[in-house]
Amino acid sequence: MSETVAAEKLGFKAEVRELLKLMIHSLYSHREIFLRELISNASDANDKLRFLALSDPALLGEEPDLAIWVEADDKAGTITIRDNGVGLAREEAIAHLGTIAKSGTAEFFGKLTGDAQKDSQLIGQFGVGFYSAFIVADTVTVESRKAGLGAGEGVRWQSSADGEFTVETITRQARGTSVILKLKDDAKEFADVWRLRSLVRRYSDHLAFPVYMPKQGAATLDWEAVNQAKALWTRPRNEITDEEYTEFYRHITHDGEPPLAWSHNRVEGQREYTSLLYLPARAPFDLSHRDAARGLKLYVKRVFIMDDAEQFLPLYLRFVKGIVDSSDLPLNVSRELLQNDPEVEAMRSALTRRALDMVARLARDEPEKYATFWKEFGAVLKEGVAEDYGNRDKLLPLLRFASTHEAGDEDKTSLADYVARMKPGQDKIYYQLADSRSAARSSPHLEQLAARGVEVLLLGDRVDPWIMGQMGEFEGRGFQDVARGDLDLSKLGGEAAKAEADDPAHEALFGRVGKALEGQVSAVRASHRLTESPACLARSEDDLGEQMRRMLAAAGRSDLPEVKPVLELNATHPLVQRLSGLEDAEFGELARLLYDQARLTEQGQIDNPGDYARRLNRLLLKLLQ
Ligand code: ADP
Repeated sequence: MSETVAAEKLGFKAEVRELLKLMIHSLYSHREIFLRELISNASDANDKLRFLALSDPALLGEEPDLAIWVEADDKAGTITIRDNGVGLAREEAIAHLGTIAKSGTAEFFGKLTGDAQKDSQLIGQFGVGFYSAFIVADTVTVESRKAGLGAGEGVRWQSSADGEFTVETITRQARGTSVILKLKDDAKEFADVWRLRSLVRRYSDHLAFPVYMPKQGAATLDWEAVNQAKALWTRPRNEITDEEYTEFYRHITHDGEPPLAWSHNRVEGQREYTSLLYLPARAPFDLSHRDAARGLKLYVKRVFIMDDAEQFLPLYLRFVKGIVDSSDLPLNVSRELLQNDPEVEAMRSALTRRALDMVARLARDEPEKYATFWKEFGAVLKEGVAEDYGNRDKLLPLLRFASTHEAGDEDKTSLADYVARMKPGQDKIYYQLADSRSAARSSPHLEQLAARGVEVLLLGDRVDPWIMGQMGEFEGRGFQDVARGDLDLSKLGGEAAKAEADDPAHEALFGRVGKALEGQVSAVRASHRLTESPACLARSEDDLGEQMRRMLAAAGRSDLPEVKPVLELNATHPLVQRLSGLEDAEFGELARLLYDQARLTEQGQIDNPGDYARRLNRLLLKLLQ
């Protein structure tokens, strides 16, 4: 048997090689994070074994107390981090230590710029894990024995970060994993006992397992715990420092950035559980994938049960990280059981409210951080308006919008800001949908509103048409898409303009335009929206809008009804006024041109751009003759 499992030399996957190179260069100024990552992995390995032992107690064998040991040899220049957790079998060492299994790896590499400063931020966000060992080590050796396997089935994995690693089967008495770092010459400082001890304490105080280091000054090797060995969330809030909360966040997320906020709560009484929720500062790469891994780390009575327990928060809060520790759920709870459990359903409602309260606190107390939060997660949080009717009152005040009141495309305006700036007589909150905020801003639909100083919210996210349709009311005010209906602004002043627009003398002209555009528009009428532009398109209140149509079509719907828009003409515009005097041929040309322009401003595209260009050129030529 030993012949078939001799040492084997293997290559890293290409992306691991890339990552290693990059990490070694760009994380140089935060080299100590390797300890955080390796201690974090050791703690995860212990967590996993404790979980497996719930159904197979024999796995713990003679060594039921799970712990972590860290030791340095300053003469040899090595550091060893050992756990007695779940361990790795030979095949697992090859699979887990030679590849990056994380989702979004390809996107991650696509985003690298070659600029060390920017890339190191990205790396922090990606979470480097085990490979951070190579920031300080020339050679990394992992020796492990998987819980449940015999002493002869240990594995040694070794690499010098040169693109290859070796794996061999060894005899190992101890269960679990030792990671042995042969420090680079310029990283020998980490073998200094006191330096190491203070770092280990920083990175382990929040963990549930004791972390032992050799007692100083003792004649023989004597281990002492350097941390409290109490899971962070089980401690009282007022005894936990911000730094500890941040370290714990890093342990569970591998995110290099500190979180924006957290919320730590214990619920007692009929139902007992503790939750610790965090708001990250940056969106992960896979945030837009609605089926990417998400959810909380689940513990039952302080025993780790599973990662990514998604049943405790709704999809639109998928950016929230954290843990939940229940005293009521059974230890053998499975994903399937979580799905149908009324207990879990009740916790989910309460945790959703807690998460929204945490977001609301950030919005109220730290507007700058909230702006960061909104930029990263606003488009996801918004989904809640459509998905979580029950929490709409909590959600609407959290929304931020670009608006005609502010220059620029940033979302700065809250609904409360908007309402405070409403004009006398204004009873609706106006918004414009387009493919981008800047396209919304330049829409002709805004002209009359702008002339009256009425503010309009500018929306350009893909999900906006869906969400804006579900807004309901905010403080008793309804929402109005400025491209819909006939937008009668007479209550807001400007009666004269309306009267002129409604002049019955235009009827004949509109009828003629309607004929020229037969099959393209459902009607032609005078516009109450325009001042500068000659024409625009409008829709009735319940038509599918253009953005919504595209969103549904992209989602695979092919049964969408074809609804033709209304062409609105600005009766005071010279082009429109000149129309009536034209012969049929020229009349048709100009009518089509106005229609195509209106489509361009609304949708950024027309059916026959070539025809449009030729038509425009014919008119230009005439002008120049
Ligand atoms: P992550 O922890 O984010 O999955 P890492 O690069 O840190 O990524 O580790 C990769 C994998 O290697 C882990 O998922 C785990 O399966 C395995 N591993 C790392 N350290 C240990 C350890 N001390 N004991 C057992 N398995 C480990």
